[in-house]
Amino acid sequence: MTTHNDDATQTILVTGASGYIASWIVKYLLEAGHTVHATVRDPARQDSVAHLQRASRNAPGKLKIFKADLVNPGSFQEAMQGCNTVIHTASPFILEGYTDPNEALVKPAVEGTRNVLNTVNQCASVQRVVLTSSVASLHGDNIEIKNKSNGMFNESDWNTSSSIDHNPYHFSKVKAEQLAWEMQKNQNLWDLVVINPSMVVGPSITKNSQSGSIDILMQLADGRLGIGVPQLYFGVVDVRDVAQAHIAAALTTTAKGRYILSAETLSLMGIASHLKAKWGKQFRFPFIISPKFLTWLAGPLLGPVTRAFVSRNVGYRIAFDNSKSRNELGLHYRTIKNSLVEHFQQLIDDDLLKPKAKN
Ligand code: NAP
Repeated sequence: MTTHNDDATQTILVTGASGYIASWIVKYLLEAGHTVHATVRDPARQDSVAHLQRASRNAPGKLKIFKADLVNPGSFQEAMQGCNTVIHTASPFILEGYTDPNEALVKPAVEGTRNVLNTVNQCASVQRVVLTSSVASLHGDNIEIKNKSNGMFNESDWNTSSSIDHNPYHFSKVKAEQLAWEMQKNQNLWDLVVINPSMVVGPSITKNSQSGSIDILMQLADGRLGIGVPQLYFGVVDVRDVAQAHIAAALTTTAKGRYILSAETLSLMGIASHLKAKWGKQFRFPFIISPKFLTWLAGPLLGPVTRAFVSRNVGYRIAFDNSKSRNELGLHYRTIKNSLVEHFQQLIDDDLLKPKAKN
């Protein structure tokens, strides 16, 4: 049973508030009447904050925007004053386009978490921290599903296989989450609830996001996977369910530990098939699954996809036990087919994806 603390006067800090997931969290908090202290790296950037300001104009809650950067110690101090709860979502979620994975991913994720939690330790009003981790903190490669006797990852799993050279994004998430648990155990003023979403899809209320989720949908439609799509499986969850789960984790007094969020398992081709069913030939969707050995051969040509990644991930179907999130946070998962269609339509409406020119 979930016990909601329906106190509309909560003041909640949301870090990385301009992001894909956090924007929905802020919107729902404002709609429920809470005061939100939202941090962004650059409040002067209209595309970071305009959608949040719009959400606050139509809602009973109050929005205050602060400037903060994960890599600047003390950066979150001003924004945290008077907050009961901290929802820490800020962390780079980029899958390519960087040269130094430590600088681009691991340092901001880990040192940023240390920075935020050091400030929590100095801020007497904060009683709960909700951290956005990932299923990447539970497992590194899909092959690890073979170790699970019931065929599902659960909240007791930890990623021990990722490193700075192999799956650095996963490494950044598990290191940041482990640090958060360690810092929580060293004090008794605040508790920690961790949200571990799988791949997040569904409409975005910000055009500003660099989220890897959006990049994967773009790759499926713009022809980059036209020569064949690898047989890669993902857990998938709607962004609105992820946002509601963060809020339930913040406000449900009995929430405890880690929560996997994952509605369904889909392959890349499964995702493409849902999109193809609606948009058919208007986009360059993949139409064949590439054999594993070809993906292995081509791996190093595909940016950060290494042969080790191909060997350990392609062809292994994964699954996640989402029962804890349903039973303790009261989540009712949306159907992913609809989330994908809504998300894709939005990328078209926002001019991020253009249909093929007709012959
Ligand atoms: P996103 O739209 O790219 O959001 C990431 C946020 O992190 C942005 O708001 C960005 O702020 C902020 N950020 C990055 N580097 C920062 C820095 N140095 N200082 C301050 N803020 C910084 O991606 P998202 O998908 O919403 O991801 C949010 C969280 O969910 C991340 O922790 C991610 O690991 C986790 N997650 C995402 C997925 C998914 O499929 N999307 C799945 C599991 C977990 P600026 O706007 O100021 O750049």
